[in-house]
Amino acid sequence: AAKAEGRSGFVTFSPAILSQIDLQLGEEAAIKQALDDDELFLVWQPQFELASGRMIGAEALVRWRDRVSGTVRLPDSFIPTAERSDLILEIDKVVLSKACAQAVRWVPVSAGDFICAVNVSGKTLQADAFFVHLVEVLQQTRLPPARLQLEITEGVFIQSKDALNTLAKIRKLGVSLALDDFGSGYSSFGYLADLDLNQLKIDRSFLNDLESSRKKQDVVGGIIALANSLGMTVMAEGVETEGQLAFLIAEQCHGAQGFFMSEPIEEKLLTNHLIARRGNLKARAGSKLNLS
Ligand code: C2E
Ligand code: MG
Ligand code: MG
Ligand code: MG
Repeated sequence: AAKAEGRSGFVTFSPAILSQIDLQLGEEAAIKQALDDDELFLVWQPQFELASGRMIGAEALVRWRDRVSGTVRLPDSFIPTAERSDLILEIDKVVLSKACAQAVRWVPVSAGDFICAVNVSGKTLQADAFFVHLVEVLQQTRLPPARLQLEITEGVFIQSKDALNTLAKIRKLGVSLALDDFGSGYSSFGYLADLDLNQLKIDRSFLNDLESSRKKQDVVGGIIALANSLGMTVMAEGVETEGQLAFLIAEQCHGAQGFFMSEPIEEKLLTNHLIARRGNLKARAGSKLNLS
């Protein structure tokens, strides 16, 4: 057991637990500093519509550039820590502001259906402050709400009453919602019945050995059919091979993103790409889209 009842009835912590707490507090302090020093920035991963090959959106992914060491940290190394504290609320707020500010600059150089997707933690959705901030950011940036999509991850939080209320209010604004990492982690089907969502994103674990596994092909085909019957579009994540892409096209999956088409790229590169209108996947069928 991680903690034990002491003889006096107080809970006592083992040295191992105490050092974990130290680590958590140290990491929290570092994240706070990063927020204060504006060390977070975004990269964007293009999303493609498979029927047309057009680039129809991009997902914002947060990065942390440590000013002292110059190294760039990936979200998996700090988002879990932030989610254990309230710092995730701050991170999601900063990311949303940055993302909308960028998204509005892309409006004049992109097609009308080009959407920017932003990840939001379930914990953030539960906080009243988030919806207020969302409305403020949309007003301040003048980003048309239809240009924004929020990606939520299945998790213990999103079925809470507060989160469901917030999700309904977000949809009323005209902002669309995607369920991220579908099929990983918590049981998934309950969410589909409870939530009114626009898009389902197939977790990239389903893409592994897709080409060799008949069962995985059946599962992915089934997810696409399920989403279609619920009136949701499907975005496949983590496409790394031409074979995976070909399968998804054959199954009439709506969209896909992944290293095969493009890794996450810096704002400027995506802007150049949009301006050059080189976002046509079909025109480059078979050859890796090299955006970077
Ligand atoms: P996610 O939202 O599912 O994002 C997709 C992740 O898969 C990204 O990792 C992306 O770089 C990676 N990826 C994309 N294509 C491929 C591929 O073809 N192969 C492989 N192996 N990986 C691919 P990243 O940027 O490290 O983000 C990891 C997770 O961190 C995200 O998963 C998301 O849950 C979370 N995250 C990222 N940015 C934010 C943010 O601003 N706020 C919150 N709350 N969470 C974020
Ligand atoms: Mg995502
Ligand atoms: Mg995902
Ligand atoms: Mg994820």
